[in-house]
Amino acid sequence: MDKTSTRLSLPVSPREFGFYVNGAFVPAGPREVFSRNSPGHDVPVTLIPKCTADDLDMAVSVARTAFDDRRWSGLNGQARAAVLLRAGALIRERAEEIAYFETLENGKPISQARAEVGGCADMFEYASGLARSLHGDSFNNLGDGMFGLVTREPVGVVGIITPWNFPFLILCERVPYILASGCTIVAKPSEVTSATTLILAEILTEAGLPDGCMNVVTGSGSTIGQALIEHPDVDMLSFTGSTAVGRRVVEAAGRTNFKKLGLELGGKNPQIVFADADLEDAADGVAFGIGFNTGQCCVSGSRLIVERSVADAFAQMVRAKFARVVVGDPLDEATQIGAITTDAQNRTILSYIEKGQAEGARLICGGEQMDFGRGQFISPTLFGDVTRDMAIAREEIFGPVLTIMPFDTIEEAIAIANDTEYGLAASVWTKNIDKALMVTRRVQAGRFWVNTTLAGGPELPLGGFKQSGWGREAGIYGVEEYTQVKSVHIEIGKRSPWIG
Ligand code: NDP
Repeated sequence: MDKTSTRLSLPVSPREFGFYVNGAFVPAGPREVFSRNSPGHDVPVTLIPKCTADDLDMAVSVARTAFDDRRWSGLNGQARAAVLLRAGALIRERAEEIAYFETLENGKPISQARAEVGGCADMFEYASGLARSLHGDSFNNLGDGMFGLVTREPVGVVGIITPWNFPFLILCERVPYILASGCTIVAKPSEVTSATTLILAEILTEAGLPDGCMNVVTGSGSTIGQALIEHPDVDMLSFTGSTAVGRRVVEAAGRTNFKKLGLELGGKNPQIVFADADLEDAADGVAFGIGFNTGQCCVSGSRLIVERSVADAFAQMVRAKFARVVVGDPLDEATQIGAITTDAQNRTILSYIEKGQAEGARLICGGEQMDFGRGQFISPTLFGDVTRDMAIAREEIFGPVLTIMPFDTIEEAIAIANDTEYGLAASVWTKNIDKALMVTRRVQAGRFWVNTTLAGGPELPLGGFKQSGWGREAGIYGVEEYTQVKSVHIEIGKRSPWIG
């Protein structure tokens, strides 16, 4: 990668990866190989093995042994913290390489990928402290004859299935917390974005993580992913992706070993803008909330709900922001919106844009496939005259498509915001503290932003209400999620006999 200009160059040839088991790469050998093309340039950038069911069994068995022999969970918090801290430092050292492959496989702008990688190092650094502070509880109020303890134990072997929209960030919102708890891991990244998960596994070994504690199997969701969710020796599974596959994960757990589940699924997230907001700031935030990562975020602010008195003027302000945002080559440092990650997703977004018009919504701007000679790009799109029953107002589009609906009262704004099966995230824009707090309390969402959007970090937990998922990742909650609670009653002195 030549970085002489503000545009990085493409690799001369695709990088070949093995999958990762027991502290080392396993070359593809006789297995089929998946060739990933960069969605921004349409050239091959990585070669990834298609693992077999036997490979998955081997990875799970290695993770099982590594958990059961306590090579990781048996270390004290200080030793685990040291590994996580070193991993954070190594991520910073290899940040440029990670960001480069993230951009090549995913299509996101390089500047954004770099910022995400920095945030991921931060996750490891923060979680290292949690490895030391994780603790249970004690009950010293049970009388002179009894003492009570509540301890937390790692849940065991954790499977992680991650999607293609934030391959490294979503992984790092989980891995350091899971390792802090003492669990071992088998991760399956999306087939189209596997490179940075494999790089992380290598980094963890270099940081001193014992072999077998972080394993990565690669391949498609329908084969390796399905086998992982059904695997009886996986104690917990963290799944991030579509609600449809989330349902399959729940069914598979029920059919097999009732593995514990963490699910982060879809969202159709409201952005409520009151007339008293700083409208310039809000327009910028709203454009960012749907333009960031080409709207391919579970937390994208895809439903704009604006007080009627300013609705038309605000739509024009957002339109003006969209007109100035830089869409283009993900490897160009000036780019703000990159490529759509998969062909299937590109088709899905365009079909929603068609459906919106067919259902009677008014296309205010965008709605086009943009032609840069190669790659797949869609211009930021704004729809007016949207009603609550339209598909574009109800279903997760996962693209840069924003719908506007006006409201007259705060009650109506809250009702529109909650009129969805999802409950992942929401934002409110107002300078009135009472309105901000009323909306924050009553809109059903796991993450909430007041006068900002998409803010995040390692401290605050992530997760959804309603059909957006189960459980929480990150923060102390993210470590506790990967533990089981054990209560211990300790008799002091002689117990009173049952048979006298
Ligand atoms: P999926 O839910 O299919 O993919 C997410 C992950 O699940 C990927 O790693 C995928 O692997 C894997 N997977 C797919 N099928 C199975 C299975 N049967 N068992 C286990 N794992 C499986 O999402 P899509 O890629 O199809 O995207 C479709 C829609 O999902 C998007 O339009 C968007 O609405 C939503 N989505 C939401 C995300 C979120 O962050 N909440 C992230 C991604 C998508 P592989 O990719 O290798 O097939």
